[in-house]
Amino acid sequence: MKTAIISGASRGIGKAIAITLAKEGYAVIVGFCHSRDKAQEVCDLIIKDGGIAEAYKCDVSLAEEVKAMVEYTKTKYSSIDAVVANAGIGAYGMLIDYSDETIMNTINTNLVGCITLCREAGRVMLSQKSGNIVTVSSMWGQVGGSCESVYSATKGGIIAFSKALAKEFALSGVRVNCVSPGYIDTDINSNLTQDDKIAIVEEIPLCRAGMPQDVANAVAWLISDKASYVTGQVLSVNGGLII
Ligand code: NAD
Repeated sequence: MKTAIISGASRGIGKAIAITLAKEGYAVIVGFCHSRDKAQEVCDLIIKDGGIAEAYKCDVSLAEEVKAMVEYTKTKYSSIDAVVANAGIGAYGMLIDYSDETIMNTINTNLVGCITLCREAGRVMLSQKSGNIVTVSSMWGQVGGSCESVYSATKGGIIAFSKALAKEFALSGVRVNCVSPGYIDTDINSNLTQDDKIAIVEEIPLCRAGMPQDVANAVAWLISDKASYVTGQVLSVNGGLII
């Protein structure tokens, strides 16, 4: 059986990815930072459906926790076939008002966390000579979001990192791709008012907010053999908002 690790999978997009990959036959490690209960709920849903899943506590901003999650998975399941670096946090406001702590926490979680997870999983995948990595950027990493400058920087960094890593890992049979969601209806957007949400949807050519499943479907395709000639790409899942 193939194994997948998804960081930040207790809710939102990560949860949808975990459930989708389990349906594709992967044993999934549901990485979580804060809520073991919610992560376990995701696992229970998967197990009830006949799949294999377990929750693993991993704050991606702490390298030792990332190492431990990868090591645990490799030891228990023998291989790591897919990794989705999904964990992320938003940071909103004028740059001039940001504290040092907010800046460093956003970078450490979104960018360093992604890089560390890819490094640790990459060590296993390169020795296996197989594997698939999908990173999760954002449309703001492509075009920059006002009052989301640091978040945009981390997500732009993820795109450059993913393209570079794809070139580095390709010869070893490991593909690296990136999904770039637009506006997806999850807790990360809980700062938005109802009016904000309506205004955003009015701008979206496909006339609706994205759902976590929209992103999960794109991730599952990138990981699948149907995308076996696809690496180093950024797949936008944004309803046509950013082209
Ligand atoms: P969410 O807030 O529901 O989920 C984020 C997940 O990351 C949560 O489970 C959270 O606990 C986890 N997390 C936060 N800090 C962590 C840490 N240090 N270590 C491990 N896990 C941590 O939001 P979401 O929309 O599901 O976000 C998933 C990813 O999608 C994020 O990287 C986000 O930046 C990206 N994204 C979301 C949108 C959107 O509109 N929802 C758009 C573009 C990109």
